Amino acid sequence: MHRVACELGLDGEVSNDSEGVLIEAEGDPEALATLAARLRDGAPPLARVTGVRADDMAPTGPAGGFSIVTTRGEGTADVPVSIDVGPCHDCLSELTDPANRRYRHPFINCTNCGPRYTITRRIPYDRAQTTMAPFVMCSACQAEYDDPLDRRFHAQPNACPDCGPTLSLRTADGHPRAGRDAALAGAVADLQAGLVVALKGVGGFHLAADATNDDAVAVLRHRKHRDDKPFALLVADLSAAHELVHLDEVAAAALASPRRPIVLAPRRSPKAIAAGVAPGHPELGVMLPPSPLHVLLATDMGRPLVLTSGNVSHEPIVYADADVEARLGDLVDAVLTHDRAIHVRCDDSVARCGMGTNDGAPRLQVARRSRGHAPEPLVLPRPTHRHLLAVGAELKNTVAVAKQDRVVVSHHIGDLEHHAASIAFREAIDHLLHLYGVTPELVVHDLHPEYLSSKFAEDLDLPQIGVQHHHAHVAACLAEHGRTDRVLGIAYDGLGWGPDGTLWGGELLACDLDGYERLGHLATVALPGGAAAIREPWRMALAWLDRAQNRDRALAFGRRVDDRARAVVGLLDGDRSLATSSVGRLFDAVAALVGLRTSITYEGQAAIALEAAARTVPPSQAPCWPVELQAGDGGPAILDPAPLVRAVVAAVDQGVDPAVVAAGFHAGLARGTAELARDLAAQHDLAAVALSGGVFQNRRLTTLVEEQLSAIGLEVLVHEVTTPNDGSISLGQAAIAAR
Ligand code: ZN
Ligand code: ZN
Ligand code: FE
Repeated sequence: MHRVACELGLDGEVSNDSEGVLIEAEGDPEALATLAARLRDGAPPLARVTGVRADDMAPTGPAGGFSIVTTRGEGTADVPVSIDVGPCHDCLSELTDPANRRYRHPFINCTNCGPRYTITRRIPYDRAQTTMAPFVMCSACQAEYDDPLDRRFHAQPNACPDCGPTLSLRTADGHPRAGRDAALAGAVADLQAGLVVALKGVGGFHLAADATNDDAVAVLRHRKHRDDKPFALLVADLSAAHELVHLDEVAAAALASPRRPIVLAPRRSPKAIAAGVAPGHPELGVMLPPSPLHVLLATDMGRPLVLTSGNVSHEPIVYADADVEARLGDLVDAVLTHDRAIHVRCDDSVARCGMGTNDGAPRLQVARRSRGHAPEPLVLPRPTHRHLLAVGAELKNTVAVAKQDRVVVSHHIGDLEHHAASIAFREAIDHLLHLYGVTPELVVHDLHPEYLSSKFAEDLDLPQIGVQHHHAHVAACLAEHGRTDRVLGIAYDGLGWGPDGTLWGGELLACDLDGYERLGHLATVALPGGAAAIREPWRMALAWLDRAQNRDRALAFGRRVDDRARAVVGLLDGDRSLATSSVGRLFDAVAALVGLRTSITYEGQAAIALEAAARTVPPSQAPCWPVELQAGDGGPAILDPAPLVRAVVAAVDQGVDPAVVAAGFHAGLARGTAELARDLAAQHDLAAVALSGGVFQNRRLTTLVEEQLSAIGLEVLVHEVTTPNDGSISLGQAAIAAR
């Protein structure tokens, strides 16, 4: 604004306050109009102009130029903190220019890039309020910072080799080994020698290893207690990414975008990559360097690195220097760190490419919305009159705070059933409330009484609203699209508490933000053993065989898999609180029947394997086995996949290729879903369908359902910038409670 006002010959001043940018300008009316227009049209790349308000003021006479004045007061905190931004093009060129004073400086940044959310202690966003506060700018950096014509004008983390943070390399038990350039060189040498190095990233520590070294990857897996879950890869640039995976235009753009997510894309023949990186997966998760330090590391390595969150199995990512040795010391051979503190932990975001076929254009779907997205506010479909806190569900949790027409969803917190994540949950709530000046007047929670988030909400001395899990799923999809109308919501996921005392997860709901009606659902079966049935998909196979065929067949199948089969059969007539209409569990059952997985080590693993198995069979060549639709007799309609399960079993018995069986299952479930949706939409006069829940991370199912619904003229809403999984429950809760 200073630059533009000076160009236009205006007098006055500009300042940041906690409500936004405040400009007082005086001069030629035409120049003033141009200034107002340039606020919108000429904003810098990272600026998001959410509104411009102009008021006339009495002229005070020429002030002798236009100046920038210091941030005023505390006020109410309404200005969003920016996301953390990957290195921009200008900074990348300087980083690789030997003549530049920031040549190979791992902390290079400018107004258009650099850390933001993860270094901000409080707002307004000024250097003194960030973890850059201890670093005093040298005169060269200060001059850039003060010069409105410079790219680093008011770049809060501005730094150079003379005044900025410095790298250090330590042993696993914390003894210093090297500093600055030698630290980086030492880490690269360790990695090239097959060692595991902890690396301080943007929102926490990563564990890095040479992705082309089978032994190094195996050691990392072993130490991290991670059996099968794929690792993500860091590569230096887009051309290196293209060598590993097939990227459509949208995926390539996302990969190189300032958000720098991990992008899941179909792998090319995996020549150079260690088999242990993503065992049995047709996709690889690839990321471009999210910080200049990662640029240097990836470039100096000259080959892909495994980069995975620095944590032990289910704990949240380590972000505090004080925790590194204690929590990661046993996992690594060295630690590459620096003296700029991370204030907020923030895991990498993940997006999956090639989702859906709307207009035939490739589409990206955010699977985990964290670094590069949080804490970017989303607009609520309708404003809230009270400050809200939404605490989410349990798995893959996030929290959200809302006031007026904005909702801010936190970074990924993790599974709250683990103690360390429950601490991270409280920290995230405190930080977001503080950052956005939200004093909650209402807390929104899941209906599941045993979720830690629900109990936390109950303990607050605040009015509460409980929101049904799948209503929240659909509401999140509506919120993403700014919709308040009544739609047919299809929520397919793992498990969510249902008011009838069963565990829901295959729901067709007529719903808007005010309420829902359960119009239909997947047939209900037992969840033999509760949590054990989630870890052991063969139990779900047994439950579905019992329903689709008979108990003898179920027992016969179970005996081939596990000697506890008889005991598990005994659980099939158990209490109703362990009955479920979950589509996620149906996927588990079929994956077990096909012989892909009888037990799992991470959530969704069996369903992912089933989708992966089907990939070689084009949808047009897949069999389409029937499901049975039962009209609701006063109650919800039932989508009964029993015939589909029987067809799967028959095909497996005949030795049909598992790929064909998996494809046939997807086709049948998609057609049954689309047919029931068509009937329900017609009966209830609904013109749009919203697809939500973790099952709609499945590309094949989503695409098939979407195509069939679009073909009969229904509008289909899907998640793109928010995730369909439980990471969006807090968003849906906030959207519902805002009234
Ligand atoms: Zn930059
Ligand atoms: Zn400097
Ligand atoms: Fe869910």
